[in-house]
Amino acid sequence: MDRTVLGPGENAVAEIFGHKVPDDQIQHPLSIGNLSINQGKIKLLNVAILYTRHGCPFNCSFCQAAAFGGGHTFNINEESIEDVLRRLRTMGIKYIALYDETFGIDPVSSDRITLLFAKYRFRWFAMSRASILLHNLDTWCERGMISNCIGVEVVSQQALDTINKKQKVEEITEFARKTKEKGRIYRMINYIIGHENMDEADTLRDVRRLAEMDFEVIAISILTPFPNTPLWDYTESTYGIFDHDYRHYNTEHLVWNHPYITPERMRSLHREAHQILNKPLNMAGRIFSRLILPQRQSTRLALDMG
Ligand code: SF4
Repeated sequence: MDRTVLGPGENAVAEIFGHKVPDDQIQHPLSIGNLSINQGKIKLLNVAILYTRHGCPFNCSFCQAAAFGGGHTFNINEESIEDVLRRLRTMGIKYIALYDETFGIDPVSSDRITLLFAKYRFRWFAMSRASILLHNLDTWCERGMISNCIGVEVVSQQALDTINKKQKVEEITEFARKTKEKGRIYRMINYIIGHENMDEADTLRDVRRLAEMDFEVIAISILTPFPNTPLWDYTESTYGIFDHDYRHYNTEHLVWNHPYITPERMRSLHREAHQILNKPLNMAGRIFSRLILPQRQSTRLALDMG
């Protein structure tokens, strides 16, 4: 390797070989993984992986999306997506994981795409933002959404504003309430501890507030300033980054000088937050009741009708 290509690289790679791939002519590949447990030994569901759009227009200070995407955002052409959907149905795949950073950011396109999901009777998972999911919740549930993921990041408004999340606490609580009312949605949450303006007591208070919202599974990170993000520049100049060993940039280490919490205490807070927020039996039970059981019931129904 003697070149580096950052972000949506289809055209950049093609140009190295003397070709061009305009954004609107990128063909979506067929890509299938599976949901499994026991380190991949027990496969539960075959899941197709789909991107309908590259990039994210937001600029949360900690996030690498802008650093990798360079602000270049565009939709993947819908004909090639529909072609993938037809092939998936032929193969008997019923589940789709949508890995757009922010699905629904283009309302016209996401409306057409979710209509296609309904037409081919897929069940699907989407990553997006609380406000976008709230706006589309009823429609997307009718069109097959069974699971979603948002970045809550933190429940303190001051901390949300500091990381430039452009998200209101009320949107998070409303998202928790309305999605819970739906009953069968499996909700995955990204959450961050170690914000500059929160000490140990503030952090544990925030964790308990999130626990009350009763999400199904919560990925917890220690705030990490990744290179080329606004957070990197800010943290370096304001507090100083003491650890430049990138093996520690796995969101389980404190790599900068937090004003209130030591690296050791941050790691133990990370463990405490996991114990408070994630109950393995609860997570497994809901995976079964919300993702696996409905699939078995619909398969049995199809067999009975067939
Ligand atoms: S955290 Fe999410 S909304 Fe914010 S910039 Fe990253 S992908 Fe976009």
